[in-house]
Amino acid sequence: MFSSNPTRPAPLPQLHGPSGLQPLIAAPVHPYAEFLGKVAKPGRYIGGEEQQRVKSPEGLACRFVLAFPDLYEVGMSHLGTRILYDLINNHADLACERAFSPWIDLEAELRARGLPLVSLESFTPLREFDVVGVSLQYELCYTNVLQNLDLGGIPLRSCDRGETDPIVIAGGPTATHPEPLTPFVDICLVGEAEEVLPGLLRTIGLMRRAGAARAEILAAASQVPGVYVPAFYYVERDERSELLVVAGRTPAGIAANAPERVTRVWVRNLDDFPFPTTFPVPYAEAIFDRAAVEITRGCTEGCRFCQAGIIYRPVRERDPKAILKAVLDGVDAAGFAETSLTALSTADVSCIDPLIKELVPELKRRKVKLGVASLRAYGLNDSLLDEIKSVGINGLTFAPEAGTQRMRDVINKNVSDEDILGSARRIFERGYERIKMYFIMGLPTETEADVIGIAETGRRVREVARELGMPRMPSVTVSVSQHVPKPHTPFQWAAMEGLQDLYGKVKMLRELAKRYRLELKTHNQQESWLECLFARGDRDMAEVLENAYKAGARFEGWRECFSFERWLKALADAGVDPNRYTRTLPLDGRLPWDHIDIGLEPGFLAEEYRKALKSRVSPPCGKPFGAKVHATNTVDAEADARRLVCYDCGIACDMSDMREERLVALRGLGELKGQRHGRERLETEAAEAAGPGAMISADSLRERSRLRGRLNPSQHADDSAFKAAAESPFCRVRVFFSKSGPMCFMGHLDLLRVIPRMLRRAGVETAFSRGFTPVPRMSFGPALALGVAAREEVAELDLLLPGAAEDMAGLWSEERRAAEATALHERLAAVAPPGLAIVAVRVVAPGERRIGELIAGADYSVAIGSEQASALATELPARMAGPLPIERAPKANKRGLRRATDGEHEVIDVRPRIVAAEVDVAAGILRFRLDMTQEPGADGSAKGVRPREVVQALCGAPVADHRVCRDQLLARVDGAYVGLRELVPVFNAMGERWRRDDVEVPAAEVVDGV
Ligand code: SF4
Repeated sequence: MFSSNPTRPAPLPQLHGPSGLQPLIAAPVHPYAEFLGKVAKPGRYIGGEEQQRVKSPEGLACRFVLAFPDLYEVGMSHLGTRILYDLINNHADLACERAFSPWIDLEAELRARGLPLVSLESFTPLREFDVVGVSLQYELCYTNVLQNLDLGGIPLRSCDRGETDPIVIAGGPTATHPEPLTPFVDICLVGEAEEVLPGLLRTIGLMRRAGAARAEILAAASQVPGVYVPAFYYVERDERSELLVVAGRTPAGIAANAPERVTRVWVRNLDDFPFPTTFPVPYAEAIFDRAAVEITRGCTEGCRFCQAGIIYRPVRERDPKAILKAVLDGVDAAGFAETSLTALSTADVSCIDPLIKELVPELKRRKVKLGVASLRAYGLNDSLLDEIKSVGINGLTFAPEAGTQRMRDVINKNVSDEDILGSARRIFERGYERIKMYFIMGLPTETEADVIGIAETGRRVREVARELGMPRMPSVTVSVSQHVPKPHTPFQWAAMEGLQDLYGKVKMLRELAKRYRLELKTHNQQESWLECLFARGDRDMAEVLENAYKAGARFEGWRECFSFERWLKALADAGVDPNRYTRTLPLDGRLPWDHIDIGLEPGFLAEEYRKALKSRVSPPCGKPFGAKVHATNTVDAEADARRLVCYDCGIACDMSDMREERLVALRGLGELKGQRHGRERLETEAAEAAGPGAMISADSLRERSRLRGRLNPSQHADDSAFKAAAESPFCRVRVFFSKSGPMCFMGHLDLLRVIPRMLRRAGVETAFSRGFTPVPRMSFGPALALGVAAREEVAELDLLLPGAAEDMAGLWSEERRAAEATALHERLAAVAPPGLAIVAVRVVAPGERRIGELIAGADYSVAIGSEQASALATELPARMAGPLPIERAPKANKRGLRRATDGEHEVIDVRPRIVAAEVDVAAGILRFRLDMTQEPGADGSAKGVRPREVVQALCGAPVADHRVCRDQLLARVDGAYVGLRELVPVFNAMGERWRRDDVEVPAAEVVDGV
């Protein structure tokens, strides 16, 4: 169907002029634009996301940047980032921007060019903010804290910072034991930020604007509850623990009236701070790419290894109605395909069962999946499991933590073997395909039998599936990490198990997992060992940290970056014995985190530790005595007269309030349930009133030959939210869009998330694939290199438009299609993300060929500059008259390419692929048309010639991809190139010649076609 290439240059009558091209190539200019195309996942660094908030610096009291010490995709998944971003930006006089650690490749580029790390919102270097916030999620991120400061142009050590440098504030869970990091931060905020951080930022910002000295600002900050200014405290070595502990205040600390102990701050009522629903929507894929909502803080269970269970006490639940609103608003605003409810222990949330029952019907309507994190092996009643499954979740994860009952008693894990196996049975009976279980080894008092018990638990769960005779054996994954004794827990005094013993246990588990056919995942033992050093570390560890950072340590939680030898050397160079931090600590010794007051009664943790060593349990607090889960309805809850368990840990919960709040929440959900039933009844009545035949039914239309093969049954269960969307009549819609600015650095895979989100925000339903994993049905034109702008890209989407059955049957006129396209255009344009503009929409006539078959070429424009354009203009005819060889690095096994031998560059001739080329000297632009037919050139030339290779061949010099723009994609009709948008009249003129009902589309071009 494609004609061969012309051998002579041809004019380019349809190419676009330079005036429309320039803005796409040039704006907005990112400070890293010249090299972003060279680094992995540039979408991490470009900002400009939907729902990003950018404020003018004018009139602000404080500019704050949250510098997350890990990659964008990790930081953007973190709930704390979302909460802080919203909290601060909700104050008109405060601005919160974001920065994330650059991966190794970008760091090298920045260092090579002497460029600073900048924020995503305004591309401002970190050193120019008033305050830099550091979110400390776990200890292995500490080297990235230094990386962010260093690349941001801020002196590493607090004592080296000058009056113009920002104030560095650390917060997050490890700020409750911050000593190894204290020389590098100015302030630690201990506890929850909501009530104090805005005021603290305002104080700092206004004092800076008033010209206050750094010391004065720190003194003022130390008066804010929860603030720890390390420079105001001195340390000494404790004889018993042999660790450096805070022994008192420095003269400056006394003069500032800094508190002797710093007390954790926490929010009494979470509903005073509704969960944010408008957070920037990540372009680059986040680890958790969904609208996650925090439903509680704190936990009732009291697991003895768990720091979060202690430092987030007491348990506080959000109002279920507010949770429902946050979930649905978050999903609707961002267009996420998945949401999740987040809690330390979801099954122990008092309203979880009725809450999910209210939420699932709404999510089903939106085809949004629901993830439920941190489940226990109980509290999973049958209807709850059915509800979760119906919104597309095929696997569940829960955390028995230990493999024997004895060990679970030691750690105070309120789960039995019966819970685990009973839950597994009910999960498998419902057709779930995966169970994953988390375990910890190296716990205090652990024996070989306990380690074997981990694999045995996995084996018994697998046995349940076998007994049920499931057609396809589900996968059982056992994920095992090692215990790291954490400050502020009952196990803070326990030893970290030696590495050699841990290696032996992993080896044993591997053998057992192989025998029992379990999937085993383990966590790196050396990384856990390092985590222990920093968790229980003192200020001596600061030098170790700096040594390792200067030796290249980054991303210590990433296996490909971690170097055990580097850390051994850093320890040796600093003269620090690591055993000091990993051994058993004396109960009567002082510890490096003793000056941080979490709010516990003295002796509470030690008593729990003693009980652990005797395998004695402490049943959950805040629950009725003897209850495993909360009552799920008001009748049972009101009838339950059992007292709520409390150990008087020091937090001083009001048990009457706790009981009453739960009842109020249940009653509120009961009202919602009544309203939902009423709504559903009205909808049913309306449907019945409309009567049959209001629309031509799909069943009758199926009979028509045009639909044959298009409405096949799917593999989804009858109650699946995706079944109807996979089997319903649909319209095929071609959407033309331009890409500019940050959007140019979105990879092809990123677009696969961006487009469905846009459709969801517009309220446009997509058809879903019929396979086991439902995804929206859509296909795209050929992928662009990262950085390349586009005036006219194309996506082909199957959409469930009203009346689609008639369209499939060929009953829609061209006018009707045009009207639908206009309406769609308006809806999509209103919700298109920044940098993506809807150019045109076309409802494709049934049977028309798909874009994968139609695309035969493309026009490009490249900004090469006036000087180069001028030189090229005279030489272009001669260059186009002969071959244009370029060298290309060899690629393995790419079909259609000539292979060079390993290590050699391949020489290819790009000339046969250039249909025509011309230079606009005045605009400094080279324009050319490329043949993109799929067959390799008959003359041996390569297919898939890249625009930058054409520029290289014609100009003799490379060009960065962000100077390239694809103007339009072309089809070839009777030997002539036609823009895809201009196909309609051609199509109409040619009639049936362009129609096919059973088009086979090349797999590479279709994401998930029909
Ligand atoms: S005061 Fe009682 S109920 Fe509250 S967290 Fe402490 S032990 Fe639990």
